[in-house]
Amino acid sequence: MNQHTSFDLPICLAVEEDAFFHSDEIIKRYIPDIIGQKTLVISEEFLIGIYREKITDISHDFGNAEILAMKDASFDEAVAIAKKVCVEDIKVIIGIGGGRVLDTAKYAAHISKAVYICMPTSLSNDSLASPFSVLETYGKTRKTIECNIPTAIIVDTNMIINAPETQTLSGIGDTIAKHTALYDWKLAASKGSARIDDFAYALSRMSYDSVYHCDEKNMKSRVFIRILSRALVMGGLAMEIAGSSRPCSGSEHLFAHAIEEYYTDVKISHGIAVALGSIGACIFQKQDPTSMIEFFSAHGLDINPQSYGITEDMFADIWKKARTVRAGRVTILDDIKHDRAQLNEIYSRMVEGK
Ligand SMILES: [Zn+2]
Repeated sequence: MNQHTSFDLPICLAVEEDAFFHSDEIIKRYIPDIIGQKTLVISEEFLIGIYREKITDISHDFGNAEILAMKDASFDEAVAIAKKVCVEDIKVIIGIGGGRVLDTAKYAAHISKAVYICMPTSLSNDSLASPFSVLETYGKTRKTIECNIPTAIIVDTNMIINAPETQTLSGIGDTIAKHTALYDWKLAASKGSARIDDFAYALSRMSYDSVYHCDEKNMKSRVFIRILSRALVMGGLAMEIAGSSRPCSGSEHLFAHAIEEYYTDVKISHGIAVALGSIGACIFQKQDPTSMIEFFSAHGLDINPQSYGITEDMFADIWKKARTVRAGRVTILDDIKHDRAQLNEIYSRMVEGK
């Protein structure tokens, strides 16, 4: 036992074809005492509509668990669910859905101290295994809040293959962002404002490498989905081991957070926003973004800000707000001037996609 570390790891990480059809058997293998305990399944109305058979099957396998359709991925909703869990003596929460459902279910489980089983229907970001939930606080304003990681993660590769492609692209974006995040983490450490945890660093680097250097480019292939799901989970665990989001989140995430907090009307997923931010971050860090841009293009990830309604003025303003959106987080943005001419140049480059 190492007395200098304090982190948790999930007991189960199952990445299997049709895993949702035998999730109870998987859980029985790892945590048999959960079976038979009062369980709540959390999902969303439209997902319950699409995956009625699978979700009903899961509810049946866990003692005819109640299926709750959450509405908002908000702090208030997570607290309301946690209250229900405590009052009704529910011991296990199963979250079935994308980032919104999983973040809400994870936080509700954290507050109510229920066991949390995470079952993603898409791979849109690395929050599935991270010790953080992104939740709406006041209105549409979102905040990243610390919480416990899941006890079990069950990924059904068939489910992910059939998920909308934009979700998988978002997951790819969140994984590639680790390149600039790790640079910023080292930079912060060199200034004494962060401490590098070598294993968290290695895990995050391997997560990035496994996707970036993956020979299989077909996003609908089982091999790619397996690699991406493990990469996203490893990113989450890197954050848990480091005790901070630094292994996965640098200046490119500040760009995304600025959009999420100040431009709530912009329709862009978290992972795509960080992908866009990674290109600027690369350039600020004096790293050549050419091969990253080629990678995004090879996967059909559109890096043109105009496609998301981000104008040149907004782009410059987002990078300006990125400097202050997380006070105290040292990144390359602290070392560079807000140079409008350079930002316009980056914007044009991204519009042209090269
Ligand atoms: Zn992220």
